[in-house]
Amino acid sequence: MLSLKTSLKGRYSQLLSRNFTLPIIEESKKGAVTIKNYIDGKFVESKTNRWINVYNPATQKLISRVPEPLPSELRSAAESAQKAFPMWRSLSVSQRARYMFKLVRLINENKEDIAELLVREHGKTLPDARGEVFRGLEVAELACSMPSQLFGQTLENVSSEMDTYSYKQPLGVSSAIMPFNFPFMCPMWVVPLAITAGNTFILKPSERCPLSGQILAELLEQSGIPKGVFNIVHGSVDTVNFICDAPEIKTISFVGSNQAGDHIYARGTKNNKKVQCNMGAKNHMVIMPDANKKRSINSILGSVFGAAGQRCMANSVVVFVGDSYEWLDEVVEKTKKIVVNEGHVPGTDLGPMTTKKALDRAKRIIKSARNEGAKVLLDGSDIKVKGFEEGNFLGPTIIDKVTTNMTCYQEEIFGPVMTVIHVETLDEAIKLINNNMYANGTSIFTRSNSASRKFQYEIDVGQVGINVPIPVPLAMFSFSGWRGSFKGDHHFYGQNGIEFFTELKTIITKLAWQDESDNIDFNFPQLK
Ligand code: NAD
Repeated sequence: MLSLKTSLKGRYSQLLSRNFTLPIIEESKKGAVTIKNYIDGKFVESKTNRWINVYNPATQKLISRVPEPLPSELRSAAESAQKAFPMWRSLSVSQRARYMFKLVRLINENKEDIAELLVREHGKTLPDARGEVFRGLEVAELACSMPSQLFGQTLENVSSEMDTYSYKQPLGVSSAIMPFNFPFMCPMWVVPLAITAGNTFILKPSERCPLSGQILAELLEQSGIPKGVFNIVHGSVDTVNFICDAPEIKTISFVGSNQAGDHIYARGTKNNKKVQCNMGAKNHMVIMPDANKKRSINSILGSVFGAAGQRCMANSVVVFVGDSYEWLDEVVEKTKKIVVNEGHVPGTDLGPMTTKKALDRAKRIIKSARNEGAKVLLDGSDIKVKGFEEGNFLGPTIIDKVTTNMTCYQEEIFGPVMTVIHVETLDEAIKLINNNMYANGTSIFTRSNSASRKFQYEIDVGQVGINVPIPVPLAMFSFSGWRGSFKGDHHFYGQNGIEFFTELKTIITKLAWQDESDNIDFNFPQLK
């Protein structure tokens, strides 16, 4: 059985009695929040009779109720965003960027409160939640530089007395359909760039973690952003299908599972929308025998068990090459020291999983591994956390002797579960990874430049870490998952993100001074 620290309930209640500056946080302190849509610059309570309950993952206390909006409510969000577009687009890019400077300041002022709310809603630890807020903030910082990001191209004398230049123009109404696991950061991947480029926006947060979207609306409202530029519609499948079909909406940014992403990509592109889908993952971490042992083991633990494994970039499959497999015993011993508790409790390494359903699914996969012949070295299925006995906790779990046909390898577990595979050579490791349908990220730990160079060159995966446990690029680069982990033509944020939210318009001009002469002969234009 795993060792646990006792919970510090005192600190938890202390946090709840603090004064928060954002209304949604203040409201959530008093009890369950009725989540509202944000349409045309106002929070509007839905008239629906279909509601989804959201529970605190550590206590099962009801924290919010999410509406499945009525069709008329969805329609009014689309119309508001459409109506605001000409006015918003006509502002200078510097004026739009100024709202982002304000947003950056507001996020910084409220970052601790946002992080605490994330812990309560999602279950992640406070340091993890702070990291999420910071990663979101970085994209807003990038959006502040939009004036120089929106440069087009020019060429003088492209033909005789003709010039050509191109602009990056906004498309109209953009939208996002978001996952539960980074409820603040994922909307921040898209909203700042889309709106600063001149689009208006409709956000559909995850129905499992809806409060962070609400926070973003409050912050944008405080920044003074004009009504209609940013809207939120909540709900699940019906709202998603509305977004795929609404003629006003020109772009969809989706982050989530393959099941939903495949559907959204097909339906959205059929309706001639630009769609980008970041989807599921099964990431591998290759440990070479020449790697720094201590750094490798720490990185394995952080990558697999951080955020309770609910990260699309967690390297949940550890591939030991050759003699590095002997380090597994030490990995198991260190894993036993991981502290599982409610996310606010200081010293916690691993919080609860976000929903009971996800917990039950992960436990089922662990059971299947045993039945299919793997060796479960550590099983966190029966863990109980003192003071939070109702929480969705899964202790860190390690499954060895995994083969590629097993359910625990075939499926994305999305929990604190490590699967271990042993191979003899780097070539075998590369082949294993390239045969996996997903290609979000991967890492290698080695001191050999030739091994790392070979790996980065031959690996068929879009994001590669070399001695880096979670290879997520910062905001100025793009999040470049490949193959089964991505659908679309432009990746999220960075230069690709800006291209996604703009369309090139190319102007070809004939110099006007020729028109001053009346001596112009008629000629059919000739292609040259
Ligand atoms: P999810 O697919 O269940 O939900 C994501 C969004 O899709 C939600 O807003 C939800 O309302 C909607 N949705 C869900 N099922 C739908 C359906 N049948 N039809 C229409 N819409 C539907 O994903 P999740 O569980 O919230 O997030 C976890 C998944 O997201 C994992 O697979 C993870 O790997 C992936 N993820 C990927 C990235 C990435 O950048 N590649 C980042 C974060 C999460």
